[in-house]
Amino acid sequence: MGKQKNKNRYLFSIRNRIFIFAVLITAIPSLSMGLLLQNMLQTTLEEKVKQKFADSAQIMEREISLWLKKRVYDLTVFSNASIVSETVTAYLNTPEKKADDNKKRRQHIKILETYLSTLQHQFKNYVRIFVLSKTGSVIAASESGGRARPFPFPNDCIEQISDKQWFKGNAYIDSRDKSPLILIGVPFFLDQLYEYETLLAIEVRLTGLLPLLDPAKFRDSGDWTYEALVDIKTGRQFLFGRGAKKVLNEISLAPSDDSQKLREYVNGRGERLMGLVVPFRELEWGLFITENYEKAFSGLINARHRNIIILCCFTVLMGIVAYLLSRQIMVPLSVLTRGAERVAEGDLDVRLPVYRNDEIGFATTVFNEMVAKLKLSQTKLEQLATIDPLTGLNNRKQVMSILRDHYKYYRRYKTGFSVLMIDVDHFKDVNDTYGHQAGDTVLKQVAELFDENLRNVDSAGRYGGEEFLVILAESGMDESIQAAERIRKAVASHKFIHEDQEIQVHISVGIGRIQKQDGDEQKVVKRADMALYRAKNEGRNRVVYQADDDQQRDAAEAGKYLSP
Ligand code: GH3
Ligand code: MG
Ligand code: MG
Repeated sequence: MGKQKNKNRYLFSIRNRIFIFAVLITAIPSLSMGLLLQNMLQTTLEEKVKQKFADSAQIMEREISLWLKKRVYDLTVFSNASIVSETVTAYLNTPEKKADDNKKRRQHIKILETYLSTLQHQFKNYVRIFVLSKTGSVIAASESGGRARPFPFPNDCIEQISDKQWFKGNAYIDSRDKSPLILIGVPFFLDQLYEYETLLAIEVRLTGLLPLLDPAKFRDSGDWTYEALVDIKTGRQFLFGRGAKKVLNEISLAPSDDSQKLREYVNGRGERLMGLVVPFRELEWGLFITENYEKAFSGLINARHRNIIILCCFTVLMGIVAYLLSRQIMVPLSVLTRGAERVAEGDLDVRLPVYRNDEIGFATTVFNEMVAKLKLSQTKLEQLATIDPLTGLNNRKQVMSILRDHYKYYRRYKTGFSVLMIDVDHFKDVNDTYGHQAGDTVLKQVAELFDENLRNVDSAGRYGGEEFLVILAESGMDESIQAAERIRKAVASHKFIHEDQEIQVHISVGIGRIQKQDGDEQKVVKRADMALYRAKNEGRNRVVYQADDDQQRDAAEAGKYLSP
């Protein structure tokens, strides 16, 4: 049983190996191919997204630049207005020292502030309008108290003016309504050497730029991009496009985040975004532009899902193919193994079906031939052990074994049987007259006559030299006497021929029938032997049905016809 299990385990392990091999040979190339394609697709998609973002930023920069120039233009116009220029000139020309002069200066400032306030009312996006000294201190402001709130004045104002004749500060947040602001200014009376004393500046709301950040303005499919303006120096986002504040606010950008690398960002809500900071060339700002990861890479994600599905299908398919293939090998192999096991257990009647014309079919055919040869030699061995070589009848051992079986059957089912003890009369004379060979021929032919005159259910065997024992199954007195007579007459009337010589022999037959009181099969043999003894005594060539008790006793004493 343990052996059987072991063999099955080996077979299963072959099956598993085929299965694993098939799955590996499918999964590894598919997986690496899928990864390669995935990588290529990702690179291409990233390039595309990056290009899209860069284009967007470029347009944005142009628009912002125009917006700033428009403000600068407005400032230049205001600064050239005669009332402003004259008042500023008068203010600058009034020395500070005398109290009188100070009064005059205040008057100039008052005029300026009135004018600036009027202007400011006309432009809603202008929070404050200032006349500033070149260091950024307020000379006049558009609204009363407007001086109180500080604003960041750019340190590089002088450089900016000598560079482009106007300046702008960093974006900052209005402490009152949290809107982003910026200071833009132009100098009064710029001379050839870019020398100036005063500046006209506006504090303007950057919300005016918001329409530019509305993605829908730039591209038709942009409804899922989120954009914000970023101060490149600080990494601070100060103006958010539509819907972008919620999404981008929690992402902190490093001040140096201008590597122009497409990166993945995750915001406070766990949303994945692909984003890029594109710095503007002329401004210290940049555009932080992002796209929902899933939407940007929907093609990639779809391709990945497709790849996984294809890989799974392929692997399952190959698994099935491997299973079927292994079955083709394993089923006949296990049939062969089971056949071999049956042979090992001694069953030589195994014959395996040969379905296929391949190596396994060949192995099965060879197996069948091998078993057939084994069976043949076993049969021969069995015959050697049970058959008398001269007459071809059962040998003594075998006929006694058959007799034992009959006895057991009788004990169980009460089906009676008889035994004939047959001896060739004066056989010694045959040998003496015609030779031993002739004697053998006679014995052989006597055996053939038994065969011809017995039923299939009867059995005959050679009991000794010229003595035979016949078992007549299920036969009573009459049937057994008839059968014995039939045999006796057949022998007596038979012409035995040896080397053209005709030999005449006859036999004596003693019949013994099984009796209730018989304790073993030997009793009936003894009874038949006694009867034979009587037949011999009564003149031979005759049949005697059982001996009476006295005669049995006599025979027992004489001992001549008792079995050895
Ligand atoms: P009876 O009628 O009393 O049986 O006389 P018989 O001569 O047949 O009996 P006996 O036992 O004296 O002789 C039997 C002879 O059978 C002796 C033996 O040589 C011979 N014999 C035994 N086996 C064989 C055999 O296989 N072949 C041959 N040719 N002769 C055998
Ligand atoms: Mg004899
Ligand atoms: Mg004899």
